[in-house]
Amino acid sequence: MALGHEAVGIVVEVGNGVGDISVGDHVVLTFVPSCGICAECNSGSPTFCSGVAVANGEGRTLSGGSRLHDGGTDIHHQLGVSAFSQYAVVDRGSTVVIDDDIPMEVGAMLGCGVLTGVGSRSSDSTPARVR
Ligand SMILES: [Zn+2]
Ligand SMILES: [Zn+2]
Repeated sequence: MALGHEAVGIVVEVGNGVGDISVGDHVVLTFVPSCGICAECNSGSPTFCSGVAVANGEGRTLSGGSRLHDGGTDIHHQLGVSAFSQYAVVDRGSTVVIDDDIPMEVGAMLGCGVLTGVGSRSSDSTPARVR
């Protein structure tokens, strides 16, 4: 498994079918991805995306499979992020575009530290929207 579940970066390549994110965008990588098409995502609760627990538990990306390989062997993703590297290959649902003027060291805090801390301090059951 390639580790690393909290990161920020700049998009250097976009996969087929991804039209709402561009090369050069600054993104936070999130270990709580959302597919955007399941019942939970469509009812305004993307943090309860039904595919996340399965994908993260299986060590794959939200859209399926591994994007990391060692020769012919698939390498598991840690929570869909695997960011302990110079480059990461992630599902679109694992990215949140941020403003370019947010310092990288601040953006890096958003993927886990702030997400976990703010979530644990929420006083109601309504999840925060990240898109
Ligand atoms: Zn979903
Ligand atoms: Zn963390």
